[in-house]
Amino acid sequence: MRLALGGVAAGVAMPRRASAVTAEKPLVMLDPGHGGHDPGAIAPDGVFEKTITLATGLALRTALLRTGRYRVAMTRTRDVFVTLEGRVAMAMQANASLFLALHCDHLPDPTLRGASIFTLSDTASDALAAGIANDENGADSPPGQITGVSPQVASILASLETRATKIGSQSLAQDIQASFTGVVPLLPDPHRSANFAVLRDPSTPAALLEMGCLTNKLDETRLRDPRQRAQLVSHLTGAIDTYFTDYAKHSPTG
Ligand SMILES: [Zn+2]
Repeated sequence: MRLALGGVAAGVAMPRRASAVTAEKPLVMLDPGHGGHDPGAIAPDGVFEKTITLATGLALRTALLRTGRYRVAMTRTRDVFVTLEGRVAMAMQANASLFLALHCDHLPDPTLRGASIFTLSDTASDALAAGIANDENGADSPPGQITGVSPQVASILASLETRATKIGSQSLAQDIQASFTGVVPLLPDPHRSANFAVLRDPSTPAALLEMGCLTNKLDETRLRDPRQRAQLVSHLTGAIDTYFTDYAKHSPTG
């Protein structure tokens, strides 16, 4: 348990909604996974996850800004290490309307391929989701220290997520899945849930996208290719457009 996270969580109880933040353009916080001394997953031929997540994040920022509908911030724009709790704190301090973490998978079975989208839950939807969350949460563990938080604290943090935030997160995941279906490869049951440290801001709808598996040759080739990444970015931009259009339509008032 980290004190900063506990303090921040205790101070935030209300959901933030675009409609409640005046007519200002919504702020999308993009979170390219890993960075600096933490390469994330490493493909068999040596490509780092941190490089692909940053390249995709920068391209997505450009695409979102081009729509004229959003402000965009990023948890990192260079090859630097940022703690998971630091990423959460940035989204909270910036009053982000949406948080999207970008990652690549590293699965034991090299035949598995495709993107998957995760939302926060104190209980993982399945063993694969639990394993992925465990891998991604490992970024914050300095050598010799205990990783993460106790199950009790994790459960409390997850339960702080407001109903509006949960609905927003689920919508975002569904919009991404819909925008990818038929055009971007998806893992079976691509929308899963687990206790990801980086999704624990209780007031910002958030999802973590695993863009594909670096352990699969086809996915690795796709993720390394700037033109195929541009296609992925285009569909993500469409998903975020859908999210905010639907959100404005169905935004809860309570
Ligand atoms: Zn990752």
